[in-house]
Amino acid sequence: EEYKVDLKKYIADVKDFPEKGIIFRDISPLMTDGEAYRYAINEIVAYAKDLNVDKVVGPEARGFMVGCPVAVGLGCGFAMARKKGKLPRETVEVSYGLEYGEATLQLHKDAIQPGDKVLVCDDLLATGGTTAATIELVEKLGGEVVGLAFLIELLGLKGRDLIQGYDVFALMEY
Ligand code: 5GP
Repeated sequence: EEYKVDLKKYIADVKDFPEKGIIFRDISPLMTDGEAYRYAINEIVAYAKDLNVDKVVGPEARGFMVGCPVAVGLGCGFAMARKKGKLPRETVEVSYGLEYGEATLQLHKDAIQPGDKVLVCDDLLATGGTTAATIELVEKLGGEVVGLAFLIELLGLKGRDLIQGYDVFALMEY
């Protein structure tokens, strides 16, 4: 598609969610509009087309909403990075710090083969903690992260500092 869609029109800026002082960037209007959703996914597919991606990996849950259609568009597979306790077979895991407490993400051991070129997708890059943990999971299994793609990057939180050396693509910046 040659035309441009103003994607920020489809992001709802929600003040004081989930707590006072935070502006939550709600992507759900983008996803409920078929044309905007397809446009956004196609832009990420175009970014990744020449990266020879073997597998897309996305963290639950909004990482699935971006990563799955991108994988279908690229013609490759998708692997779920899930919160601890959700995946039924053998996993690798990585714990990372949240604002309050800790979270653990897991990936099935057979989700990535050594040498696989992996694109990590999520809806939004904030501090980079979720993405850094997802990268670590992929690398534990011998995968090579060739790109990171997001709908939105929150520039003020400097997420790129946590994921230096990786190629980052974001459709919208705030
Ligand atoms: P990080 O780990 O980079 O600090 O946070 C990114 C993760 O938190 C992503 O998985 C994303 O889904 C979620 N997240 C944090 N803030 C927002 C937000 O304002 N909007 C949306 N849609 N997701 C957010």
